[in-house]
Amino acid sequence: MSCLMVERCEAVTFKWSEQNVIWVRMLADGRLNAGHAGVLLAERRGSYPLIDLQLLKPSAQQGQVESGTRRKLKRLLSFQRYFHASRLLRGLVSHTPGSLHLLDDDYLGQAAHMLSKVDSWSFDIFLFDRLTNGNSLVTLMCHLFNVCGLIHHFQLDMVKLHRFLGLVQDDYHSHNPYHNAVHAADVTQAMYCYMKEPKLAEHLTPLDVFLGLMAAAAHDVDHPGVNQPFLIKTRHHLASLYQNTSVLESHHWRSTVGMLRESGLLSHLPADMSQDIEQQLGSIILATDISRQNEFLLLFREHLDNQDLDLQLASHRHFILQIALKCADVCNPCRDWELGRQWSERVCEEFYRQGDLERKLNLEISPLCDRQTDSVPAVQIGFISYIVEPLFDEWQRFTEPSLLSQLMMSNLHKNKARWGRLRCVHAPAETQAEEPEAEERDGGGEDIP
Ligand SMILES: [Zn+2]
Repeated sequence: MSCLMVERCEAVTFKWSEQNVIWVRMLADGRLNAGHAGVLLAERRGSYPLIDLQLLKPSAQQGQVESGTRRKLKRLLSFQRYFHASRLLRGLVSHTPGSLHLLDDDYLGQAAHMLSKVDSWSFDIFLFDRLTNGNSLVTLMCHLFNVCGLIHHFQLDMVKLHRFLGLVQDDYHSHNPYHNAVHAADVTQAMYCYMKEPKLAEHLTPLDVFLGLMAAAAHDVDHPGVNQPFLIKTRHHLASLYQNTSVLESHHWRSTVGMLRESGLLSHLPADMSQDIEQQLGSIILATDISRQNEFLLLFREHLDNQDLDLQLASHRHFILQIALKCADVCNPCRDWELGRQWSERVCEEFYRQGDLERKLNLEISPLCDRQTDSVPAVQIGFISYIVEPLFDEWQRFTEPSLLSQLMMSNLHKNKARWGRLRCVHAPAETQAEEPEAEERDGGGEDIP
């Protein structure tokens, strides 16, 4: 443990000590009520101060990627768009039910065209984020709430909805290569596709759809860009607060509750209903804890073996929403190669930055986080084999299988084979250099030998 780490921990502990004390009291009391809203609001930004990734100098390669991205974004920026979007999100202009008023006219057509195919599995969330000037999560959620009839059903106030979604989007850390608002938008779009599965759609109530979309949009909010073991070994205050268990997921949930209360989005609903929504959101978001993967997978498999899932039952629909969000959260390898590849490189870069920080702080480098030894293809093959494939095998059974499931499994097998070929040449940088036609030329679709 380096002196630097100790100093940083103490400084942060001091800075956040008042809030921590209040939180400990809350936990001892074992309840939350409206009177604690202020504490929740303070807490929801709590992941930020300790993990100072600015310590790190990005690698030359990543720097090039980022500067390229910045250039693209810069081309798309305009004062008009920024001015309009920022005024809208601050509630300074009138609102109409719809989602495209954030956009300039020149991008309206393209973004609207994309939204008309929002249930397409080849939906390019990176392009959509550029067309919406970085507002993909807010724009997508407004659109889905409209098309699903949720605004009308729950009599939602559009100003409050925009405020809530703006808070959520802003609380994602845009400097995280992976766990940022675009990932949240991507997961939300996938969740929407899954909730439209024929096996599921006819059984879902408006409340189920509301919970599914909200949980997807907020499931990683305020993610610090490092994992739970890192928070535990650096004695981050969130690890203490949540007793080293589902630390990040608990924080995402509590932050969401804080933002719901701050925006007043559900304030017109009966208290027991808004409390129920908060609890169910927690249960669905907490299911994304990857350390609970086996628990959910075994239960899902058991239900499918026994054929005893009854989607008339609210508890069974809730379970399927948990599974659907878990699938949506790890579905990158089931996308088209080009989309999945970008996510793979992003998640590995986030891992590597944690590893760089651990190296700098003289901590043991976490598995998959060493940019010198853990190649992107190797990380991806492990991820697909141990996490994604077992889960999607069962999801495919659940959908009996649907066209979407078949497409996802086909993509998954092709992508795994392609990562396998890239691993053979074991050079992470080559993932970008490989010719797109290689898959077809080599007969993509075969499994790893
Ligand atoms: Zn996630």
